[in-house]
Amino acid sequence: MEALTRIKTKTPSPYQLAAIEIATHDTKTFRFGLPADATLDMLPGDYLYVHATINGKPVKRPYTPSSLPGTTGSFDLTVKRYETGVVSKYLHDQHVGSTVLMSGPNPGGHWVDGMAKRVGFVAGGTGITPMISIIRWILTKRIDADLFLIFANKTEADIIFREEWNQAVRKYRNFHCYHVLEQPPAGWPEGIGRITVDILRQHLPAPDSDACIFLCGPPPMVDALETTLKELGHSEQSIILP
Ligand SMILES: Cc1cc2nc3c(=O)[nH]c(=O)nc-3n(C[C@H](O)[C@H](O)[C@H](O)COP(=O)(O)OP(=O)(O)OC[C@H]3O[C@@H](n4cnc5c(N)ncnc54)[C@H](O)[C@@H]3O)c2cc1C
Repeated sequence: MEALTRIKTKTPSPYQLAAIEIATHDTKTFRFGLPADATLDMLPGDYLYVHATINGKPVKRPYTPSSLPGTTGSFDLTVKRYETGVVSKYLHDQHVGSTVLMSGPNPGGHWVDGMAKRVGFVAGGTGITPMISIIRWILTKRIDADLFLIFANKTEADIIFREEWNQAVRKYRNFHCYHVLEQPPAGWPEGIGRITVDILRQHLPAPDSDACIFLCGPPPMVDALETTLKELGHSEQSIILP
């Protein structure tokens, strides 16, 4: 298997946008073509840099492919657009056929097969993106691990890949998902408000040497929940940030 040598370097290379899919009202999945002899050579959770020159200034931001490692033909980035965001807006302004400069992959808070038997994911909004390829990898490869996703969003319309999570709950007995909404619709049956210590206790695996927790979201949420996870007994090494 030939590596994705063209972006396995620090030098950015151009990738052509082959398709764009709408994920939510502010999030799109961008599909980029890969050269015929290349694969997406990374561990699930690793990231690429998108490079651009905006207003004459070079900028770069990290993005975690939502495709499975080893993918050939094309790979996906799922990106939320921030109204005041430099690179996310630049990506959302691109069209099929445009080229985007990327480098990497670089090691992020990734999954390594066998690292745990019980895996928690605590995601806030776009913080789900580094976890997408990890969850897809473990489920599709039928890796022996139980997965517990707690996914916090403002509204139902903000839930990225909601249908995929619903289907995964039905299809895989080892996948569990609990949504928490700040502004829930009437009669919402799951969590309301912010992620609390009780939600973490009830919907994550108990701390032990065979458990790990991926945590990603807005910095204030990550800071607060990292402390809470440690208070619940999860060790520093078992908490994985992107
Ligand atoms: C390892 C890693 C992987 C990532 N993978 C992805 C991914 O797959 N998909 C994805 O959409 N993003 C991902 N991100 C976030 C991404 O790198 C950028 O930070 C994001 O797209 C915003 O960049 P920007 O240039 O548009 O905004 P900037 O110009 O950097 O920020 C401008 C403003 O946008 C808002 N903003 C920016 N980032 C955030 C945020 N995270 N939460 C709330 N408000 C914010 C703030 O108001 C900020 O002042 C990842 C980050 C890391 C560290």
